Amino acid sequence: MPDTLDPELRRALAARIRYYNEMGIYDFYRRETRGEVAETAVFDAVAASIHPESREEMSPRKAAAVAVAVEGNIFEVLVPKPEHGVSDPAKALKIIREDLGDCTRCPLHKQGRKQIVFGVGNPATDLMFVGEGPGADEDRQGEPFVGRAGQLLNNMIKAMGITREQVYIANVVKCRPPGNRTPEREECETCSPFLMRQIAVIKPKVVVALGAVAAKTLLAMNSSMAQLRGRFYDFKPTGVGSSDPNWDGCKLAVTYHPAFLLRDPRQKGEAWKDLQMVMKELGLAAPRANA
Ligand code: SF4
Repeated sequence: MPDTLDPELRRALAARIRYYNEMGIYDFYRRETRGEVAETAVFDAVAASIHPESREEMSPRKAAAVAVAVEGNIFEVLVPKPEHGVSDPAKALKIIREDLGDCTRCPLHKQGRKQIVFGVGNPATDLMFVGEGPGADEDRQGEPFVGRAGQLLNNMIKAMGITREQVYIANVVKCRPPGNRTPEREECETCSPFLMRQIAVIKPKVVVALGAVAAKTLLAMNSSMAQLRGRFYDFKPTGVGSSDPNWDGCKLAVTYHPAFLLRDPRQKGEAWKDLQMVMKELGLAAPRANA
């Protein structure tokens, strides 16, 4: 922790970290960006000074809430969306993208985004990956997971015996948070209905939430990664019905964000266990080493 850290900045960082902790977020990781190491190092140091265990992402932590699967909300009013009744998922995704437009719904639209990063991949896939939000590379290229973390995700997908082109990849927020900070609750709440609509038209068999923000947003649960991982959840996108009456939701698994795995490669084995659970569910076999 630098001795020269401005007390005002320290107070602001501490307040921000407490806010995330109240949301149940204890895992802080650093997406790779050039020239921002000093800033994130300060952030880590403040986090550690408030919750020393926040530096060690794998240690079990006190959960803010009990981990239970989300049940359908019987009081929820489902307003038909423009893509409702469109059976072709590619067309339905296009309608959702058009509805998103040049979005100004949350503060991230005026915080330096270059473009909206909607999602990429096979609209008719059985497997979806959901991350947190675009980083610098993604913001520049308009595609999720294209930086170093994206390369690791590609390798994880390859290890499952499939390709990036066979899955669909999206994020909770579609605009880059400045300085690659964690998206605010308001930003996640404002943007995630579009993600829910994407899931509802793709109708995957399995969604893999990459990291705490994706997991907590999708499951509306406030638990640590240690508690969220290692099991399947029955998942149905909230606030939107699928146009397919035969689709009754999917399974959701939680694993580490690839950016976290870059920071702590020791946890790759744990992530692989999560992916093996997903492979079993989808009937996928890992490719042979010499294949
Ligand atoms: S993050 Fe989502 S809600 Fe916010 S401005 Fe971007 S597209 Fe709109």
